[in-house]
Amino acid sequence: MSAAAARPQTLSGLVDELPPCHTPGVFPRRYVFRGETVLFETRPSLLSRYWGRLVLYGFLLLLFVAVSFGLPTNPTGPFFDGVLVLLIVYAVFAWRGSAFALTDRRVLATSGVRSGTFQEIANDAVSNMTQVGDSTGRLTFDSGVVRNPTAVLSLHRTMKIVWSDLPNTPQVYRYVQDAFSVLLARARQVRIRQALLDRAREFIVTCQYCNALIDVRRIVSDPPRCPRCGAPILPPELVAAGASA
Ligand SMILES: [Zn+2]
Repeated sequence: MSAAAARPQTLSGLVDELPPCHTPGVFPRRYVFRGETVLFETRPSLLSRYWGRLVLYGFLLLLFVAVSFGLPTNPTGPFFDGVLVLLIVYAVFAWRGSAFALTDRRVLATSGVRSGTFQEIANDAVSNMTQVGDSTGRLTFDSGVVRNPTAVLSLHRTMKIVWSDLPNTPQVYRYVQDAFSVLLARARQVRIRQALLDRAREFIVTCQYCNALIDVRRIVSDPPRCPRCGAPILPPELVAAGASA
């Protein structure tokens, strides 16, 4: 891929940049708000996360098999084999309970077998993102120092989320960077539109008689009258004063 390749400008353009490890549906939807869009989601790499443990279990399993072959009867073999199988099943369940997601609002991570832990940082609170590792590595999202409105003693706290044992780390890093810049541009557009709407609203008054919404810049009659019903138009503050008098 050429280094000069254009970066995606829209959320739909981001779809083409999704890393290979993107697995739709792996992040539990009970953590996702209605109306929130999951842009990217994946699981940690099973091998990377449990490499040491799987090797150990495999080694023990071989050992027990060897021992049980060496004995005329095998009183402990099935028990230990059962324990090992349970450990492996537990590791797989724990892995299946771990997932990472980027939505159009938040960075999310969850882990654990049943209820587990859940972490979130609002996208616009992420002040730093660091990448460690080449293919399977980790991404750290750091909020820097933010005010914690609910804390009494400590007024500030930092939030941090680590996506560890992350497949395709460099691609995910680039994808998240692109997604952040697209989302930032989109938020700017929303703010501009809102500012224009707020501005326009300053020029709107409601006719006290027919409830028409009137743009005061369109009133040409003098004294000002409602274009629809012809009733006199008063500025809202005079209407309020008249009502209380
Ligand atoms: Zn009117």
